[in-house]
Amino acid sequence: MRVCDRFDDLGREDADTTYRLGIFGGTFDPVHTGHLAAAERVREEAHLDAVVFMPAGVPVFKLDQKVTSGEDRLQMCRLATAGNPFFDVSDVEVRRAGNTYTYETLRELRAHFPANVELFFIAGADAIITLGKWRNAKELTQLAHFIAMTRPGYSREEAERAVYVDGKRLDVTFLEVPGLNISSSYVRGCVGENRTIRYIVPEAVREYIVSKQLYR
Ligand code: ATP
Ligand code: MG
Repeated sequence: MRVCDRFDDLGREDADTTYRLGIFGGTFDPVHTGHLAAAERVREEAHLDAVVFMPAGVPVFKLDQKVTSGEDRLQMCRLATAGNPFFDVSDVEVRRAGNTYTYETLRELRAHFPANVELFFIAGADAIITLGKWRNAKELTQLAHFIAMTRPGYSREEAERAVYVDGKRLDVTFLEVPGLNISSSYVRGCVGENRTIRYIVPEAVREYIVSKQLYR
């Protein structure tokens, strides 16, 4: 299996060094500056060696919604992260058939990377609030450490209360990130209403949305 371009061999050269790899899961329809600023702060705060953006193939919590093709969402993530040497993009979930379950991804990543690579799954407070409903929640937090990012409009306290399964607290660390009140839904709404999304998404992503006529 190939996970990503830049960091696929992480940990292999030097078995005595521990590496910290962030995995940022989401729909990224489209990726926006809220995602980017948050991921960059998490990388710094959690001393991650890299952060891999992992767009979901078929996001199970959005089965009732129309989601842009995996190829377009991947391409926008590639454009958005190209300038950051610590960022990369993985097509593992987009390539996998069927609904996307994070536990499957983390199992695959755990099998791919050597033991000296520690995995950190990154998600916003709104996603963490639903963690108890994710398939195999307990196993999930054994495959990777979880990092919960604060997000404007979502209560950190509620998220803190949600990280228990069978009365046991899961391995989730909360981090404050720059509070950018931006969502992909908001971006899609702006495009649909013909309003500007300049500076809300990276310029290359904006140009991609225009050229492919997404969200019209
Ligand atoms: P949508 O409105 O379509 O749900 P979104 O902006 O929430 O889009 P997702 O792809 O659903 O984007 O989010 C991917 C991950 O990024 C989730 O864990 C989400 O909590 C987190 N996230 C998204 N936007 C922010 C933000 N502005 N600050 C912190 N975390 C964020
Ligand atoms: Mg969301």
